[in-house]
Amino acid sequence: MITRTKYNPKEIEAKWRTQWEAEQLYHAPDDAPKPKFYNLVMLPYPSGDLHIGHWYNFAPADAYGRFLRMQGYNVMQPIGFDAFGLPAENAAIQRGVQARTWTLANVNTMRKQLRIMGAAWDWQREIVSCLPDYYKWTQWLFLQFYKHGLAYRTKAPANWCPGCNTTLANEQVLPDGTCERCGSKVIRKEIDQWLLKITDYAEELLDFSKIEWPEKTVIMQRNWIGRSVGAEIRFFAEIDGQREEIPVFTTRPDTIYGVTFFVLAPEHPLVEQITTPEHRAEVEAYVEQARHMTEIERMSTEKEKTGVFTGGYVTNPVNGEQVPVWIADYVLMGYGSGAIMGVPGHDQRDFEFARKFGIPIREVIRPEEEAPSDPATWTEAREHLGVMVNSGPFDGTPADKAIASITRYLEERHTGKFMVSYRLRDWLISRQRYWGAPIPIIYCPKDGMVPVPEEQLPVYLPEHVKFKPTGESPLRYEPEFVNTTCPVCGGPATRETDTMDTFIDSSWYFLRYADPHNSEQAWSQEAMERWLPVDQYIGGAEHAVLHLLYARFFIKALRDMGSLHFDEPFTRLYHQGIVLGPDGQKMSKSRGNVVAPDEYVDKYGADTVRCYLMFMGPFDQGGTFRPDNLEGVWRFLNRFWSLVSDSWVEKPDGEESSESRAVERLRNKTIKRVSEELSNFRFNTALATLMECNNALIKQQNEPVARSTAYRDTLETMMLLLAPMAPHISEELWHLTDHSGSIHMTDWPEFDEALTQDETFTLVVQVNGKVRERIQVAADTSAHDIRMLALNNPRVASFIGEATVQKVIYVPGRLINIVVRNS
Ligand SMILES: [Zn+2]
Ligand SMILES: [Zn+2]
Repeated sequence: MITRTKYNPKEIEAKWRTQWEAEQLYHAPDDAPKPKFYNLVMLPYPSGDLHIGHWYNFAPADAYGRFLRMQGYNVMQPIGFDAFGLPAENAAIQRGVQARTWTLANVNTMRKQLRIMGAAWDWQREIVSCLPDYYKWTQWLFLQFYKHGLAYRTKAPANWCPGCNTTLANEQVLPDGTCERCGSKVIRKEIDQWLLKITDYAEELLDFSKIEWPEKTVIMQRNWIGRSVGAEIRFFAEIDGQREEIPVFTTRPDTIYGVTFFVLAPEHPLVEQITTPEHRAEVEAYVEQARHMTEIERMSTEKEKTGVFTGGYVTNPVNGEQVPVWIADYVLMGYGSGAIMGVPGHDQRDFEFARKFGIPIREVIRPEEEAPSDPATWTEAREHLGVMVNSGPFDGTPADKAIASITRYLEERHTGKFMVSYRLRDWLISRQRYWGAPIPIIYCPKDGMVPVPEEQLPVYLPEHVKFKPTGESPLRYEPEFVNTTCPVCGGPATRETDTMDTFIDSSWYFLRYADPHNSEQAWSQEAMERWLPVDQYIGGAEHAVLHLLYARFFIKALRDMGSLHFDEPFTRLYHQGIVLGPDGQKMSKSRGNVVAPDEYVDKYGADTVRCYLMFMGPFDQGGTFRPDNLEGVWRFLNRFWSLVSDSWVEKPDGEESSESRAVERLRNKTIKRVSEELSNFRFNTALATLMECNNALIKQQNEPVARSTAYRDTLETMMLLLAPMAPHISEELWHLTDHSGSIHMTDWPEFDEALTQDETFTLVVQVNGKVRERIQVAADTSAHDIRMLALNNPRVASFIGEATVQKVIYVPGRLINIVVRNS
């Protein structure tokens, strides 16, 4: 017997966390002979408040890592902070503190909160992305992209607030197109920006064959990349006596005879030249108006089509027709070439545009065997494939040959070509902001753009800066930062004042975890070969396209530069669900329904909160946080605690019996089920299995079987199976029951498949001494149930007939004899 105590999480949880940390229990050594397992959660932003959503991501992820460690893996489970970004900068402006001070204070708070969870973090590998020992390598990476032609500077449109005199991130522009800070109407302005050439990898990024990711995420990435196959067709115009070619991309070159108008994006460079003097005023007004709209507004299918005629014409290369040129905001410069051929008969957007402006609509594609119809009577475009009609020499070309025939014709005449187009655009990485890694580029009046030599990295971000009330990046007004010397000629030069998008920081942090203290390199080859790629990545589905796509791009680009040996960053990916507030609504500060885990940890301990979140429902579905339901989990842990303290015996002296064999089967079944559930992230059913086992043991607590070896082994097994989910209580019970070493370093229990099956025997049923039936029954069926089984068996019943049952004799585990007398 062990000394009976009350379950007191407050005391034991703090005690064990201190001890685990003192022993560096969760440090993943680089030289362990065991197979590695890299278990990763998404890099948290140090908002200064670890909320229940973090717990919901991290606690089950931790249980999974612990489960694998007990299964014999050298598990690396690091944590760090995505510490650059806008909120710190806004806090700095609003509260008059330095962004660095604010951020590092938050990091400190979150470190404490993360410790309370009792997760098996390897703190020796922590990274904080706003510290120079990290961003030095972010800058180094930028230089590698630059040297390999994957980073370039060009004019690109930005959201510009005329009130604040600064660029805004998309999330700072309110849905009505105004600045969230000052309410001015945001405009689009072309400014010099830095981009990474992710489009070079569009095709490879569509290959998901090497990773096991949720199908939804794969589909979202596919759509985001948006591959389409078609043709580039070059229309041409006479501009100032010169032949000017204007390419368009279309997935339907077979409709080219149906072109009745041509549209340029308002930003298209040829707009000014193609516009005739009598249309100039109207065109310029329209261009100005389009600048005041966001892309989302412009692309909305709800929006009524607008546009103006330029007075100019282009020539259709297949039939020489003169086609009127319009400008319209539904054509965007960033997509394709910023120009489209208008085929109103067979494209819905073009149809709406033509109807509004009275442009003719032609039928050039018709389903086989259908009679010609008058497009004037159509209510929508006919986007289906079909036989080419009204198409000159191509009339009668069947649907399956139409696209190929016309593409070949264009290629032969050098007016077009087969083309694959992508929706994906290059990644705009420069931010006209302060709190980010400075882009390591210098501008020299003599030498132009010069990369900062690698040995001069990091380009330090000044720590104490003065913010202007407008929110403009203070870097531009820091002469000590801006003014420098040119690395080429030694003359005076200036630094780039843009900083990098924080998505750059999170595109490579998982590499740094493998080699966090390397001061010579971003990482060593050795570390990469040891730890990468990430075996399991766990985080929110809201990162499906940006972060997860950027990280894949980074790895592929670095592989091609010779820096990495693998193709994909994250072999397996899991998205946890979302925890809703107690009112069933998404948690938000404005609703006031944000759950802070701390008060529940205070009341019940971290183990209860961890288990509650895992028990709430399937991990990928999330659920509503109901404070009352914590009680149920709390009671389970208490009952298990009492069971072990009451029933643990040092030396079991009970005899083997059918009851003890049943307990042993229960033990094996429980191991099998919990192992399967944990392997598949089904923490809720794993816990349910443990609760069932706990109840079964409690029922027999005062019976002789409680003194058997099987019973004692089952208590021990329960501790082990519970350890990944409730690490503190299981560790405490492990030591109370005189085990040595941490339970978390103990091997996961094994099971015997044969013992996971129910034991059965063949029951022989006699009626008046004659064998009438044989029935298979479970070994632990009670004598009462066996009598009922025998008496209710249809065959047996037919032998009893109308007779009266006088007596039933049961020989346990063998036979039953029913004595009857005819009345
Ligand atoms: Zn503003
Ligand atoms: Zn120079």
